[in-house]
Amino acid sequence: MIRKAEFVVSNTNPAKCPKADRAEIAFIGRSNVGKSSLINMLTGVKELAKTSQKPGKTQLINHFMIDNRWYMVDLPGYGFAKVSKDKKEKWEVMISEYLTKRSNLCGVFVLIDSRLEPQKIDLEFLHWCGDQGVPFALVFTKADKLSKSQTDKNVKGFLGKMEDIFGEIPDHFVTSSEKSTGKDELTSFIEELVAE
Ligand code: GDP
Repeated sequence: MIRKAEFVVSNTNPAKCPKADRAEIAFIGRSNVGKSSLINMLTGVKELAKTSQKPGKTQLINHFMIDNRWYMVDLPGYGFAKVSKDKKEKWEVMISEYLTKRSNLCGVFVLIDSRLEPQKIDLEFLHWCGDQGVPFALVFTKADKLSKSQTDKNVKGFLGKMEDIFGEIPDHFVTSSEKSTGKDELTSFIEELVAE
């Protein structure tokens, strides 16, 4: 269980992130996937991650200190429809530098909207993570939006794609920030990651 969550710092430059002296996990996903809501649900702090960052805003790496013990990181989302080429490239440089060089990173959680068919942009990003050896797990979001059978079907479909690409099914969680579904399972998994 997370007892305390505090904002530490926002950065555009991965080299300026806090000293890598404690375990760290990060969240990333397509814009609007429910990342801020998930972070708020997990930490129990309503305004910790601001919901719905607008495309025009600076894209930031946000560090939160959890229980004075480990860092939770909110990474800027991908896939805004109206983002300029320049901005997209900046995002790619920043994210690849962070994900491949951050020495204390124990795992990144890639958020997937459980309502949708597998999206090309998510699959491409996951492919890249696999190629780079970035340790990731999947978090399916907004599970309250569809019936359980429909959500299960979508999740199964996505995991099938993962098996095709990687030859195995990654760790995964089905969540709803609205109903706190999956909160305990995901929190326990994170606690294990940061304790290793
Ligand atoms: P972000 O852009 O990935 O940070 O996404 P947000 O957390 O801002 O969520 C985008 C929209 O989806 C908001 O309107 C949220 O209220 C909604 N949303 C996020 N998570 C859930 C969820 O678990 N269930 C439902 N029903 N809506 C959600």
